[in-house]
Amino acid sequence: MSEFHEAVIIGGGPAGLTAGVYLRRAGIDAALVERGVLGGTAARTEQIDNYPGFPEGISGADLTRLMAEQAKRFGLVVKEFFDVSLVSRKDDGRFLVTSGESEIETRGVILAAGTEWKQLGIPGEKEFVGRGVSYCATCDAMFFQDQDVAVIGGGDSAIQEAMTLANLCRRVSVVHRRDRLRAQVVIQERAFRQGNIEFLWNKAPLEIIGKGQVESVLLRDTQSDGRSTLKVDGVFVFVGLEAKTAFLGDLVDRDRAGFIEVGEDLASKTKGLFVAGDVRTKRLRQITTAVGDGALAAVGLEQYLLEAR
Ligand code: NAP
Repeated sequence: MSEFHEAVIIGGGPAGLTAGVYLRRAGIDAALVERGVLGGTAARTEQIDNYPGFPEGISGADLTRLMAEQAKRFGLVVKEFFDVSLVSRKDDGRFLVTSGESEIETRGVILAAGTEWKQLGIPGEKEFVGRGVSYCATCDAMFFQDQDVAVIGGGDSAIQEAMTLANLCRRVSVVHRRDRLRAQVVIQERAFRQGNIEFLWNKAPLEIIGKGQVESVLLRDTQSDGRSTLKVDGVFVFVGLEAKTAFLGDLVDRDRAGFIEVGEDLASKTKGLFVAGDVRTKRLRQITTAVGDGALAAVGLEQYLLEAR
């Protein structure tokens, strides 16, 4: 017999935790499943200055811990290390949310599974993960104290993570394929003021090189096509996000980049399946917007459950 909950939330970041607060406050028996530990990518952000209510800023770990405490206070059932492998819809309209041998049956689902870091797909990247290649400055910066590192990318993540690294590393080289950053101006300006961050414009990485550990990155000049070698001890890759949602099959529509397309009410094309946070097509992927999504999806699901009774 599978376990049953009226609603299942997939993903324990800000969107999922907010949905949990709303569903529980509406009296709905809800469980949240998370493939790792609660917090999502937000938990790995060192300093969050654009989430209202914290005038001095707050760390992502602290903010998401507070969100989780709040959701649990209202009785949200939380299952960590529940890695969803399949979501299917039964003939009676109920869903089965499966992870390995475990199965939860539910009347409604909120997908808030977030995104994963994109990989560069160049030689050396996979080989050196954990030996100099990283996708998380907050997690790994301490291993590069007083060392030289490269950050690949020019978006908000790359520049914000470069700032985190600059606090500990000797030199941070931001490698960007164009001559202008994509990151928000306020984030850019802070990075430009940081003495030990240098910007290598119009450069794209071709290969990560080393013996046992990362030693350098081979770069291509995107204007002249010339090659150069950057000696570094670590390479931090922040070249965007992707949504991994194969476990939903064709229950949802996706855009060309793989994000899930939903209407303004966050309802997917499958009745009873709502989508919140970074995993959906949206203009602004921030904690503030994820939290709004979580609330909206929960209210939509609450309405659906009432009508479907
Ligand atoms: P992003 O905005 O998609 O930026 C990805 C960066 O990587 C771009 O600069 C892109 O270059 C570069 N890039 C992509 N593929 C590459 C490749 N194969 N080789 C070299 N460079 C490559 O991703 P993100 O920075 O992770 O941000 C994702 C979302 O989260 C955004 O909506 C962002 O605003 C949000 N976010 C917000 C905050 C914040 O508000 N504090 C913090 C983190 C993230 P081009 O510019 O040339 O395309």
